[in-house]
Amino acid sequence: MDNKKIADLIFPNVTLKPEDILARYPKRQLKEGQVVTRFAPSPTGLMHIGNFFQAFISYNLAKNTDGILFLRIEDTDNKRELKEAKEVIYTILKRFNITFDEYQTLDGKDIGNYGPYVQSQRVEIYKAFAKRLVEEGKAFPCFCKKTEGKEDVLEQRKTKFAEDDEKEYDPCRDLSYEEVKRHIDNGESFAIRLKTKNSGSERIKFYDLIKGELEAKANAKDFVLLKSDGLPPYAFAHAIDDTLMGTTVAVRGEEYISSTPAHLELFEALGFEPIKYCHNPLICKLGENGNRRKISKRKDPEANMMYYFEQGYPIDSVLEYLLNMINSGFEIWRKNNPDKPWQEFKFGLSDITAVAPMFDLAKLNDISKNVIARMSGEELYKAWLDYAKEYDKPLAEILEKDSEKFIKLCKMDRENTPKPRKDIYNYAMMKENFDYIFSMPERFELDEQDKDKANEFLSEYLRTFKMPTSNEEWFENVKLLAGKLGYATDNKLYKNQPEKYKGNTAKVCEFIRVAITGRKSSPTLFTIMDILGETEVKARLAHNQP
Ligand code: GLU
Repeated sequence: MDNKKIADLIFPNVTLKPEDILARYPKRQLKEGQVVTRFAPSPTGLMHIGNFFQAFISYNLAKNTDGILFLRIEDTDNKRELKEAKEVIYTILKRFNITFDEYQTLDGKDIGNYGPYVQSQRVEIYKAFAKRLVEEGKAFPCFCKKTEGKEDVLEQRKTKFAEDDEKEYDPCRDLSYEEVKRHIDNGESFAIRLKTKNSGSERIKFYDLIKGELEAKANAKDFVLLKSDGLPPYAFAHAIDDTLMGTTVAVRGEEYISSTPAHLELFEALGFEPIKYCHNPLICKLGENGNRRKISKRKDPEANMMYYFEQGYPIDSVLEYLLNMINSGFEIWRKNNPDKPWQEFKFGLSDITAVAPMFDLAKLNDISKNVIARMSGEELYKAWLDYAKEYDKPLAEILEKDSEKFIKLCKMDRENTPKPRKDIYNYAMMKENFDYIFSMPERFELDEQDKDKANEFLSEYLRTFKMPTSNEEWFENVKLLAGKLGYATDNKLYKNQPEKYKGNTAKVCEFIRVAITGRKSSPTLFTIMDILGETEVKARLAHNQP
């Protein structure tokens, strides 16, 4: 009887009953195979690629089963919450087109019948269930100082239970009504802890949808359900929310595997059916010492999802790369279907890799080169301009002012060619890659021993220069002049008797290329000349005279 009295004493204002709450959240009517899943980020900072990985898996899972995806903001850890973090989450999800069937808008409107979708607005629900557990003797108030912190309470437990290091029963688990009342009358704050049934020696088996059957040590701690500020830590909040909101599959990071027995114990204490978990592997990187390590926000800029916007990666490049990491079958599918949108690739839970994928920027860049190569020139120009508007305003002005020229540049070697050039993997690199379009080159990649020959050829080329109107015409003119000045125009002849010639046509093309772009290799010279215009081309040819 003490339990009921204790519950009323510590929660005098909690009148809401779990039955009433359960009635407010009717069971979802689902079709065979339909998955209800969620993305449940904590707004604690920037969005980590590992979190986004879960969002993306959940999104595909819901989409591929014609299921339901909802967004739940897990903001019960006041100390760590950053105000802007929530906005960052929404921005990133929106830009990657991860859409939700149910969520709360940033201005607080719930879309869907299972809200509120923000945990800090569900405190009365958690309290009602906590009160019920206290009534049933499955949970108890704990008055230890800083009870939700680790250091102090572990110290207290150590002295009290030194003889059994497996168990972490709390010193307050068996307080009588009178003892509780004394603490309350003293105005002391309290946390609510679960009274674990385990002794510490049990092992628990459970099924993971990616990894199959798993086993872990049973929970033997009286862990916190409500902190002294009345807010629940992750375990309690998620058990209640995923049940009420009708989650059928929860995708979360594999760091939760070791606490799954505690979560299952909680479902049982609450009288809930356990949900199905799918623990996705953590993304790794090759560390400095050659070992695998977790990708880290502190060390790796690419762990932060904002990085991909700042560098101007197309969203499809990032999503395709994630698909590649999730499922090795994607790479083969992409090879067989080079032009299809990735959305047509379907995967199920059993296709998700169970091994920690390695993050490899070179691989992302490789995928991204192909994604960009599939874009039309107009699309590339628009994406580049949008990027510049956000991250490089002066560049955006130039791109807009001379739009015709830059559209031509974006189309160059991209359209009307069976083999589009694959040299761009993000928009940030475009300016440097095409620096010679923006201004006269400052450095020239010409070999020292070629300088005199180049000057001789270029001054004659400039003297007789006529703006070409086609690639063929341009090349014919160059060949003609090359022949006149003692260069071989037939490569076979040149190869047989190189000493008879100053060089071959390829060599004179290199001289022109270096004069115009500063580089030995570039996209089609005729197009570059066309973009630069006659005056600029002549100025560059003249600039290279002795
Ligand atoms: N808020 C938790 C996290 O960000 C959610 C874990 C889960 O998806 O259940 O890690």
